[in-house]
Amino acid sequence: TDLSKIRNFSIIAHIDHGKSTLADRLIQFTGGLTAREMSAQVLDNMDIEKERGITIKAQTVRLNYTAKDGETYQLNLMDTPGHVDFAYEVSRSLAACEGALLVVDAAQGVEAQTLANVYQSIDHDHEIVPVINKIDLPAAEPEKVRNEIEEIIGLDASDAVLASAKSGIGIEDVLEAVVTRIPPPKGRIDAPLTASLVDSWYDPYLGVVILVRVIDGKLTKGLNIRFMQGGTQHLVDRVGCFTPKRTDLGELGPGEIGFITAQIKEVEQARVGDTITTVKNGATEALPGYKEVQPVVFCGLFPVDAADFEKLRESIGKLRLNDASFSYEMESSAALGFGFRCGFLGLLHLEIIQERLSREYDLDLITTAPSVVYRIHLGHTKMEDAKVIDIHNPADWPDVNRIEVIEEPWIKAVIYTPDEYLGSILKLCQDRRGIQTELTYVGGRAQVTYELPLNEVVFDFYDRLKSISRGYASFDYEQIGLREGDLVKMNILVNAEAVDALSLIVHRHVAEERGRGMCERLKDLIPRHLFKIPIQAAIGGKVIARETIAAMRKDVTAKCYGGDISRKKKLLDKQKKGKARMREYGNVSIPQEAFIAALRMG
Ligand code: GDP
Ligand code: MG
Repeated sequence: TDLSKIRNFSIIAHIDHGKSTLADRLIQFTGGLTAREMSAQVLDNMDIEKERGITIKAQTVRLNYTAKDGETYQLNLMDTPGHVDFAYEVSRSLAACEGALLVVDAAQGVEAQTLANVYQSIDHDHEIVPVINKIDLPAAEPEKVRNEIEEIIGLDASDAVLASAKSGIGIEDVLEAVVTRIPPPKGRIDAPLTASLVDSWYDPYLGVVILVRVIDGKLTKGLNIRFMQGGTQHLVDRVGCFTPKRTDLGELGPGEIGFITAQIKEVEQARVGDTITTVKNGATEALPGYKEVQPVVFCGLFPVDAADFEKLRESIGKLRLNDASFSYEMESSAALGFGFRCGFLGLLHLEIIQERLSREYDLDLITTAPSVVYRIHLGHTKMEDAKVIDIHNPADWPDVNRIEVIEEPWIKAVIYTPDEYLGSILKLCQDRRGIQTELTYVGGRAQVTYELPLNEVVFDFYDRLKSISRGYASFDYEQIGLREGDLVKMNILVNAEAVDALSLIVHRHVAEERGRGMCERLKDLIPRHLFKIPIQAAIGGKVIARETIAAMRKDVTAKCYGGDISRKKKLLDKQKKGKARMREYGNVSIPQEAFIAALRMG
């Protein structure tokens, strides 16, 4: 294909601003699917994505558009994951494009994720076309949003396209802007093959499918290829694109985006960011930008019913087939039995995996407190030299006497909020050991930047932020490295027995307050027993907080008896179900919900 007739672009937007709806409209307009084939939203194909309106796996669609100049163009539209947890995938998708549509909701205006994504796009030297969407809404203020785009982002928005993806207004204008404003790709057909591995996923029929962007040379069916970073060799058995239907092509030339399959069994072997070249006369230098993604948030996943362990193992294995960024290893806990210690790219990633396990595989799970990775410098001991270890499980916390220095990961968070919530948000950040670095106002809204320890964010920071701002504040973050911290391991003892699943790494200054909070919440979460139950928070041997659950009075149980038989049976059934969800500690039953609820900070 003639390079001048190709346009590669992505759509960037804050969640819910209309990215998927616009993509669907573009597909519909260019005739990629008949009306009947258009399902509700074709680009978001996983249930959870549909429900939450987020895109997890990038998808790319090729559109053939005959422009007003009479020429037919090949438009490759990449749908990128919108969330910070998938920042590396976003960055690889952006690297495969020359331009982007910046979709901004005409009623909501610019939000934190709009900013984060648009700056990434600018870093990739993209030509950015602002699209002000949802102009059909009565609350739409396109002129105000146009100003925001210029004031906040610093992009020329004088020829922003006004659109309503829902009502189909401005769709052709968007396509014309893509053709006339976004530059065509560059590339050489006679150079050795280099293609960037943009994404990969497991398909039960095809095996691993790889999304590629060809930079130079030609990628053809039957070719022997080599992954330059991964080091493996494969035979290409399929080359094609999505329209969005899978379409076989036979070859992809420079500047083109499409997919290949090469009899690969595991996504692990096709890592995002790798460079593909030919085995014979291949390129000698890989494309820049490859990095191994490392999980940053860890937690334990245990089946509520120990008999489900094998099922959990199988289900986790299946999920992992499609997601090389998620890690797991077996773990056993004194209280929770056998389970897995899992690593995730961030909190949303954790939630998605957890939700898919319970929804798609029908598993009842207990999740332990999420933890970040701490770097601990151990001092000299008689037998060993000083060494550095990375710990993500409180159970592996070393003996305090051996610890010299602990480092913890920090993030830079950008929060964008209407003025009226700013006070409470600043307090929240302050309570979480935040350091404010910037505060600016633009038209009734504040943008505040904080440096925060990631361990203060992994629990319920996001939920708290949303609730104190009634959903109006938006938040984005990036990691900024490790810093020394005075951290301690806090144990929770129920009836004098440490509950390993509730152990927590906290900063010494907040330990007492957190300990008190957890004891208070557990007091409400653990039902009364026939005896008194002490609940304690302790650092080493030192108790720093304590509560007591009073013993149950005998006549309370008596109330369960007598009365209508069927009602009694119903109650007993309920009790039975409830009991199955309890965990026994010593002789105390702790409800499953208590594990997570105890960790929410007031
Ligand atoms: P995404 O998260 O950016 O992919 O957003 P979606 O495309 O999923 O849209 C989020 C919500 O906004 C959905 O309920 C859409 O129906 C709605 N929406 C999208 N575009 C428009 C529009 O132009 N006008 C109106 N009124 N609603 C829209
Ligand atoms: Mg979407």
